Formats: sequence, structure tokens, C-alpha cells
Amino acid sequence: MNKLNNLVDGYGRRLTYLRISVTDRCNLRCVYCMPESGVSIMKHEDIISYEDILRLVRILSRHGLNKVRITGGEPLARKGLIGFVQKLSEIKDISDISMTTNGILFDKYAHGLFDAGLKRINISLDSLNEEKFKRITRTGRLETVLKNIELAKKIGYNPIKINTVLIRGINDDEIIDFVNFARKFELNLRFIEYMPIGGNIADAVSSREIEEKIQLEFDDFKPKKSKIKYNNVSGENVYEKKLSVYDGVSRIFGFDGNDAVIGFISPMSEHFCGGCNRLRLTASGNLRLCLFYDDEYNIKDILKESDDEIVFEKISNIVKLKHFKHNFNEKTEKKGDISWANDFMNSIGG
Ligand code: SAM
Ligand code: SF4
Repeated sequence: MNKLNNLVDGYGRRLTYLRISVTDRCNLRCVYCMPESGVSIMKHEDIISYEDILRLVRILSRHGLNKVRITGGEPLARKGLIGFVQKLSEIKDISDISMTTNGILFDKYAHGLFDAGLKRINISLDSLNEEKFKRITRTGRLETVLKNIELAKKIGYNPIKINTVLIRGINDDEIIDFVNFARKFELNLRFIEYMPIGGNIADAVSSREIEEKIQLEFDDFKPKKSKIKYNNVSGENVYEKKLSVYDGVSRIFGFDGNDAVIGFISPMSEHFCGGCNRLRLTASGNLRLCLFYDDEYNIKDILKESDDEIVFEKISNIVKLKHFKHNFNEKTEKKGDISWANDFMNSIGG
């Protein structure tokens, strides 16, 4: 295996993490992600096949890729996901498989996915209040998601991360409720700053503002510098080696005598681009080098090459074009122009 020939961008950053959007379809219509009427969804035949994704992952895994996240749209809305996860987990050098889901359909697949190799999960949850939950997702029931978080815990998913986006005037009064919820069930809660992608609404609540509110309420709330526990694809409990106050792009905090972790993902107020190790594959089969730039490269066409090394070489040349950092603040500073991304988040996958 040629580990010397790693996938590296033009700034020498190793690209070890691929986020795969397996579908642009979704059973919810979150206000910050999709228009109420939905978006014009792709034809089935335009969505990248599992076979193509698996070949891509196999090839890149020989050149340093070791982590994948399955996302969407709603990944659980795509048929055949359990078989796909099974095959992903058989790829030797992929040591970390995760999925981001809205949790609504999770109970149907929770056991099957776990047995197939998915041992950790991120569930998005933006309100603990039924009426607000409905207002944000425009459909869907809070009770279903809460039950499914419990189910994930019972089955042994670890970590269970809860993704929460706060929208001013809607759910920004729930910060302490969310923290109490995380403490009660000892979950890993991450507040993600709202990003104005796809021409969506509203005013972001900064991580700093949330942090200060929590600090006022909990004296023992402090940056966490510890080894993070997580399950690998075989379900073994392993600990990350390095001590850090960052878990990926999330700045983490904890409490005395409680295993809850509170994380802040701050694309708007902090730059975390320097150590970026990510690539994104859209549901249409395009490689996206950064969430915030619209340049995309057609992977389905590249995969028509039968020689894996030629595929790698072509991708290797593309990733050299990855920008050093996002152009987010610059773009949002343009008054009246927040509608700058071509895609809605559902097709990119977050
Ligand atoms: N449907 C799945 C879900 O909701 O978890 C996976 C796809 S969703 C696009 C992935 C993540 O992106 C979710 O946690 C969602 O909250 C987040 N997200 C979507 N639009 C966003 C936005 N404009 N700003 C910040 N986060 C966003
Ligand atoms: Fe669907 Fe996830 Fe977007 Fe909500 S955030 S509309 S659940 S893709």
C-alpha cells in the first residue's frame, strides 16, 4: 500500500476525511436548510451509485483517507444504506465511519446499521419544545427524535453527538435546556453556528454568546482537555491519543463529575481552516473542496477510468486547488447578498 503517496492539497494538508452526501432528499424541511416547498430533487439516475462511492473510498483509502461521514439530505431516506455501511466498514484503512441524521427514521435502521459497522452517530436536534421543533423542521415530531436518541444510547452508539443550530428569536432561549438535556443523558452536544448558505434566513447566534450564557449558569463549565472516547468500526471503545480542547472542528467544554461534552462549531466567528482535512462528495457525485466555495468536480466521469491509479492521479490534481481558507466573512459582508451559494445545504451535506 502506497502510504507515501498521500492525498495532499496545495498547502501540504493531508486529506483524510470524506463527507459523503448520499441523497439530496429529505423528510424534513428545516428553515435554515431548505425552502418550504423543497428543492427540485435529482433524478435517481443522477445520484451517485453506492458502487461508485465505494470505489472512490477504496482508492482514496490507499492514499491516506481514513474517516468518512455519511450525510445528506437525510441519509436514512436512501434505500440500501445498511448494505452500503457494511461494505464501507470492510474497507481496511477506514477506521472511522459516522453519520449525521435528523433521527426521524432511525429506529427502523438503528440495529442493522450498528451491526453493519456504524458505531457512532450525530443526530440533529434544534429544539426540545414540540411546537418550536415543528416550526424549525416544518414537519416531524420531537418525540420520535428523543426516543431515537434513547435507542441509540441503549444499542451502544458512542459517541452520540447532538447537532444544534440556534436561530435568534426561535430557539436561542433554549441554551440552558439543551445543556441540562446533555448533562442528564451525558451526551456530546455541539452548538453549530448558523451559516447563511443557499439564501436562507436569519441572524446567527455566536458561539461566544452561547458560551457566556452557559458560564453564568454553571460554575464548573470549563474547556475540556481530555482524551475523547469513541467506538471504532469494530465497536471497540478507543480513546483518541492527543489531548486537545478541539474535537475535530469543535471546541469542547465539560463539567466536573459529568460526562456530557458541550462543543462549539464556529464557522462564522472563528477560522478553523488551517488544519482542514476534509473533502465533500455531493449526492450528484461532485467533489467539493470546501463547503463555502461552489467549485465542484465531476467524480462520476473520473470513475469511468478503469485504472485506479489514474483515478487517484486525477483527484490528486483536483485537490491541489483547495483554497486555504473559506471566504465566508467576505461574502456575508456584502450587504443584501447572503444568497451566494448555488446549492442548498441538503445537497452538500453540511
Ligand atoms: N439531514 C441530516 C441532518 O439534518 O442531520 C443530515 C444533513 S444536514 C444538511 C447536516 C447538518 O447540517 C445538520 O446538523 C444541520 O443542522 C446542519 N445545517 C444545515 N443547514 C445549516 C445552516 N444553514 N447552518 C448551519 N448548519 C446547518
Ligand atoms: Fe433535512 Fe437535515 Fe436539511 Fe433538516 S438539516 S432539512 S433534516 S437535510
